[in-house]
Amino acid sequence: MARALVDIRILQREYLLAISRALTAELDLHDVLRIILQAAVEIVSGRAGMIVLADPDSEILRVAAVYGIPPHLVQHFEPLVRGVPYQEGQEQDALPELMARLQEIAQQANLGLTAVTRIPMINREEPIGLIYVFQSGNYRFGPDVRDLLRSFAEQAAIAVRNARLYQQVNKEKQRLDAILQQSADGIMILDRALKIRRFNPAVSNMTGWSPEDAIGRQHSEVIEWQRLRTNTDLYEAVANGWPLPGAAHIYVEGDCRRPENHSHQMADGKLISLGITYAPLLDENGRMTDIIANIRDLTRYREEEELQKTFISVVSHELKTPVSIIKGYAGTLRRQDAHWSPEILDDSLSVIEEEADSLTDLIDNLLEVSRLQAGTFTLEVSDEVMLPKMATAVIRKFSNQTASHTFSVDFPPDFPTIWGDERRLNQVYNNLVSNAIKYTPDGGEISVTGEVHSDYVTVSVRDEGIGIPEHEQHRIFHKFSRLDNALSRKTEGTGLGLFLSRAIIEAHNGRLWFKNNEGEPGTTFTFSLPRD
Ligand code: ATP
Ligand code: MG
Repeated sequence: MARALVDIRILQREYLLAISRALTAELDLHDVLRIILQAAVEIVSGRAGMIVLADPDSEILRVAAVYGIPPHLVQHFEPLVRGVPYQEGQEQDALPELMARLQEIAQQANLGLTAVTRIPMINREEPIGLIYVFQSGNYRFGPDVRDLLRSFAEQAAIAVRNARLYQQVNKEKQRLDAILQQSADGIMILDRALKIRRFNPAVSNMTGWSPEDAIGRQHSEVIEWQRLRTNTDLYEAVANGWPLPGAAHIYVEGDCRRPENHSHQMADGKLISLGITYAPLLDENGRMTDIIANIRDLTRYREEEELQKTFISVVSHELKTPVSIIKGYAGTLRRQDAHWSPEILDDSLSVIEEEADSLTDLIDNLLEVSRLQAGTFTLEVSDEVMLPKMATAVIRKFSNQTASHTFSVDFPPDFPTIWGDERRLNQVYNNLVSNAIKYTPDGGEISVTGEVHSDYVTVSVRDEGIGIPEHEQHRIFHKFSRLDNALSRKTEGTGLGLFLSRAIIEAHNGRLWFKNNEGEPGTTFTFSLPRD
């Protein structure tokens, strides 16, 4: 039934309006294509229609929308989609082949379709798909109908392009988000007013602020500098007109405090050292729209620096003390005008000997630490180490040096010989027993006890001394770490003993730990070593 031209024009306009509404309504691409297809079929009073799209990667054609074809019959239309390539201007020539295939399909599917036309969908001169429209009866598609369908094909091509652009933008955004999330360096994005807009997990870890808490706040609320190591901070730079053309980045370094507020996940009020590089993002007029801040946690380097300083002051003090004692005694003994009794001579020489020994110990310790740091620390093992015998020898040595402490050694008779580095294990004994003496200033019992277990043995050194406060427990095994109490200031020590002892025991696959004695003063240090 032919319609009046005016009717068709009005209808066409209505359809195109409906389509453009669908295009802006952010529908799924397939929904939009279905709406376009339905309009195209209806406007030419067709029986059915189908849109196929070329996959952007593989270029394989796939059915993207159907109208008037029951879903279970769609597969029968495959021969129309594949194997009849579309070429510009070939509509007429290709038709007989299509018609032949359609006849077969119509028979198989028992659908009364007798005529088909297809219109290419073109996006920037690239064919991206085809619209098929089917008719029944004696209908023949004429050029005017194809012209009409062409406007729908155009709309469909636009819909596909928009959807693909949208997908691309989305994908790109997701990729950027993932990069920001995964970056090991802290990344923060600020707006022009220096408010935080993005805050990645790495910054969160450094600063203790969760992204939810930080986003929307002023930069200065989150990064509160306690001490700056560079000349300016961001605010000063901005006040001075940053970013000036040519001088794009600024670098700010200093210490800031992690929040103490308990609503923050990682809040602990600790100082952290940060280095932040700010880079401006400019629009086409050269106006700043955002600032990208790259944040590095420099705390570890600062701690290393501190450690170096401690090292120098501790070592120079610890080296100086014995040297000046030795020099003092030697100078006194040499005086020509004095005649020293044999007892004084003997006492003085033994002081010199002791001080020389402690110098040797210190130098040994320093060498061991540098070996550990350089990774050249290796054990010289034998399989005949007799821990009970070594304990007795160490105790004998130390009992000569103190009158106020009593000692006991207690090992079961079946205590096995073990595999280990005897010289190093002796160092561990020396340190644990000397600590026990040093940190039991008023005298008391110091006992060394061995235990045998199926796979390992343990040795404990127990004292009745000052103990170790709970909150300092994690610290005492660190390099150069001495607890700040009156006793540490009075006694000699570099704070290397326990650090080395633990490294030695762990190199043997053992463990070293301690517990304050229950209900009594003092501490018990224990190490375990495997039996094999
Ligand atoms: P070094 O062993 O290098 O001469 P040090 O004895 O001070 O010096 P560590 O043996 O590493 O160093 O011990 C670290 C700190 O742990 C000590 O300074 C002391 O404050 C504390 N400490 C160690 N052993 C005991 C103990 N048995 N009782 C109480 N405090 C201890
Ligand atoms: Mg010590």
